[in-house]
Amino acid sequence: MPVEPMVPSRAPTGASATRSRARVNRAAEARILAGVRPLLPTIAGRVRCLAPALAALVLLAMLAAPATAVLQQPPPFDGDAAYAHVRTQVGFGPRFVGSEGHARQLEWMVAHLRARADTVELQRFTHRFQDGETRELTNVIARFRPDAAERVLLLTHWDTRSVADEEQDRSRRDQPIPGANDGASGTAVLLEIADVLSRHPPPVGIDLLFIDGEDYAPGDMFLGAEHFADNLPPESERPRYGILLDMVGDTDPWFPMEENSRAHAPELLDRVWDTAERLGYADFFVREDVPAVIDDHVPLNEAGLPTILIIDPDYGPDSSYWHTHDDDLRNTSPRGLEAVGRVVLAVVFEGG
Ligand SMILES: [Zn+2]
Repeated sequence: MPVEPMVPSRAPTGASATRSRARVNRAAEARILAGVRPLLPTIAGRVRCLAPALAALVLLAMLAAPATAVLQQPPPFDGDAAYAHVRTQVGFGPRFVGSEGHARQLEWMVAHLRARADTVELQRFTHRFQDGETRELTNVIARFRPDAAERVLLLTHWDTRSVADEEQDRSRRDQPIPGANDGASGTAVLLEIADVLSRHPPPVGIDLLFIDGEDYAPGDMFLGAEHFADNLPPESERPRYGILLDMVGDTDPWFPMEENSRAHAPELLDRVWDTAERLGYADFFVREDVPAVIDDHVPLNEAGLPTILIIDPDYGPDSSYWHTHDDDLRNTSPRGLEAVGRVVLAVVFEGG
């Protein structure tokens, strides 16, 4: 993720904030254990079985969805299955542009997608980096129902950072990070969504975009998103909106509402957070506004493709794991992956 860590402004700081977050998360955990979480939206045939209040809720959701949408029950999404993709990626080693891990991940990811998506396109390009080297980068676009006129874009970055520039231990700052959260987590969710969509065709066309070169190093960022934004398909084939996932694998998920998303796609932002609340994830998808985060949604929004960002900008105590060697498997979990996967699938299947 992004250049602008939101440490100072992201959230209330200090003991009271810690306590309040701990309380929120304990509440979420209690509900998950109680098994109440999946207040699943339903297809018409199941409405009869529901309590009247829930039926009314479903009706409201149907009315709120765009007129063209096909209301469908979202397919299941397994956080543990998604998390296995985090492990696999971290197993490749650091995946910064030009590294061996980067090449291995690209090969693995493309094979995974080719076995599941209707089409897979590799968008290759080169960039001259700050160190004077020119390197090759690859955005990967996996399409489901490529002929559908109505399309939705889900995106994330798949590369990791070549330096640990926020590391406390200065002697290790020039070493690459594992990127279990920053890189592998969003990619894992989208790879698992590809698996789900291969078994449950979506009601609209879905484009999964895996962006390269988001996070190489200061001064070499957002390269893949800028390339994609400069080469958008013609208006008639363009996705209606985008949902960007970044750093969704924290053990303590906290997804506030980000300012750039609010500025460019306010209705979508509200719809995603409403969906999360209905699915029982209100303690993860919090209704707290946070300042703008500079991330891959910025070039897309500037190019006219309204895109929101789902991010947990608070990684570790005072965000101390961000862009450090602590961004590893120990500090990630399936919890956020599962919440984000379920919410995104519900948004797509219920409203397009
Ligand atoms: Zn990053």
